[in-house]
Amino acid sequence: MTQGDVKIHPSVDNGIAPARDDFPGGTLRCKCTDRPVEVRINAQAAHNHVCGCTKCWKPEGAIFSMVAVVPREAVEVVANGDKLKVVDSSMAIQRHACTGCGTHMFGRIENKDHPFYGLDFIHTELSSEEGWSPPGFAAFVSSVIESGVAPDRMDGIRARLRDLGLEPYDALSPPLMDAIATHLAKRSGKLAA
Ligand SMILES: [Zn+2]
Ligand SMILES: [Zn+2]
Repeated sequence: MTQGDVKIHPSVDNGIAPARDDFPGGTLRCKCTDRPVEVRINAQAAHNHVCGCTKCWKPEGAIFSMVAVVPREAVEVVANGDKLKVVDSSMAIQRHACTGCGTHMFGRIENKDHPFYGLDFIHTELSSEEGWSPPGFAAFVSSVIESGVAPDRMDGIRARLRDLGLEPYDALSPPLMDAIATHLAKRSGKLAA
């Protein structure tokens, strides 16, 4: 098997499309042919990445999900919102999924003390508009083993990710881990001046 045969996610496997300047956002649509849920995103996405965790929604056959954040004010359910239901309300990220097709439309944090409160998690591949900010790294890479990927494939998967310019991390990227630690240090009064 060559590295190009490692399937990461359909939005990156054949090359990664660049962001468009002044991209205004777009509309996410679930996979239902009847009454699809539509969520309008009135912003460019940030911190887009591929994620190996077991909680993020991923398309059929993909090892990784692709997930980004936008300000929660920029997220607006515009059609068939009655089909949405929170997947697991005990999780920090409340993933609002379509009860018809299972697609996660947006993930929202309701805990105001959470480091990422105010940001919603979205999958830009659900939009047909082109120009979203592309994924820039790979998070929670080792976790794909928990989804059933053979551990001996990990070297090949990490090599393929690096090939694509998606530096693999086994947590979030260093800037995001730093942002979380800064938030916690502020709360405990330990943040250096
Ligand atoms: Zn649906
Ligand atoms: Zn994830």
